[in-house]
Amino acid sequence: MAAARSQLATPNAKRLLRSSGRRFTRQREAILKIIREQPGHLGADEVFQIARQRGHRVSLSTVYRTLELLREQGLVEAANLQQDHRHFKAAGDGEHHHLVCTSCEKVIEFSSPHIERLKQSLEEDHNFTISNLELEVGGVCTKCANAASG
Ligand SMILES: [Zn+2]
Ligand SMILES: [Zn+2]
Repeated sequence: MAAARSQLATPNAKRLLRSSGRRFTRQREAILKIIREQPGHLGADEVFQIARQRGHRVSLSTVYRTLELLREQGLVEAANLQQDHRHFKAAGDGEHHHLVCTSCEKVIEFSSPHIERLKQSLEEDHNFTISNLELEVGGVCTKCANAASG
């Protein structure tokens, strides 16, 4: 676990992109920088707004495409698998899971020893080696629940 974490720590974006035949353009660099600076998950529209505030002439669709490219390269992780509502974050926190509010799209990260146990029992029950287990749980956050009831 510790080894996997340090391996993921700060991948060299330039080298990674070049090795897959992509250029590390100024736009891509700026977008990755924004993602790395912000705590928690950001929607593409939030990344877009920050980029514009910093004077980068990008369109929202460029931001989307760039985030997807960075995700494919393992530089950012995405939560919420419905394509249009993905939230992004710099890769490197190791295995964790997401609670996603279906109302405001807030993403809460968690990890739990219960999930480690679930993994073990799944492997035993099905004689299956799990290489990747990521939970994404939909629901409603406290704020939205309160707003709905009150
Ligand atoms: Zn919410
Ligand atoms: Zn996450």
